[in-house]
Amino acid sequence: MPGRMTDAELLGEAATPIERPAAGAPFDIVFLDRDGTLNVHRPGYIADPAELVLLPGAAGAVRRCNEAGCVVVLVTNQRGMATGELSREQLLAVHRRLVEELAAAGAHLDAIQVCPHQADSCDCRKPRPGLLLRALDRAGWADPARCVLVGDQPSDLQAAAAAGVPSYRVGRERSVLEVVTELVSGTHASV
Ligand SMILES: [Mg+2]
Ligand SMILES: [Zn+2]
Repeated sequence: MPGRMTDAELLGEAATPIERPAAGAPFDIVFLDRDGTLNVHRPGYIADPAELVLLPGAAGAVRRCNEAGCVVVLVTNQRGMATGELSREQLLAVHRRLVEELAAAGAHLDAIQVCPHQADSCDCRKPRPGLLLRALDRAGWADPARCVLVGDQPSDLQAAAAAGVPSYRVGRERSVLEVVTELVSGTHASV
């Protein structure tokens, strides 16, 4: 079982090493977008844990990655932290709720990377690859080509491509659970 996440990890500020996955895992790291991929995307920023609503199958998707032995890293843009619409305390509370809801379904994240910056002011706001590159830095054992990203926006896929990581898009037609199930069982048709 994973240890309890530190506040630094929940805030996306941790720089500690990410542990190597089990031998035989189909991917080194599964990168997951947050809003619109794991939880219902709503206008503005989710600043209250009560506003966090997991999408159907989201916890199951994370659990499937866990069971397959893949390391799971959340990668999320939260520009509201730069605009003052989202405080660190609020983000912490929202991510605490997220990991609690996942835990209730037997699922866990291994790491969280957050871009708290304004647009065009950093190297980590997706579509830039910095969130993925930072996680890869923390996981020296990981090969980008043996990782995968699942997200709902073109900017997610662009960030992955810039980091050399294959990616898949979820949406109304294909849930994160469907995509992840196919990926970890090796039946996903490449697009
Ligand atoms: Mg999204
Ligand atoms: Zn950034």
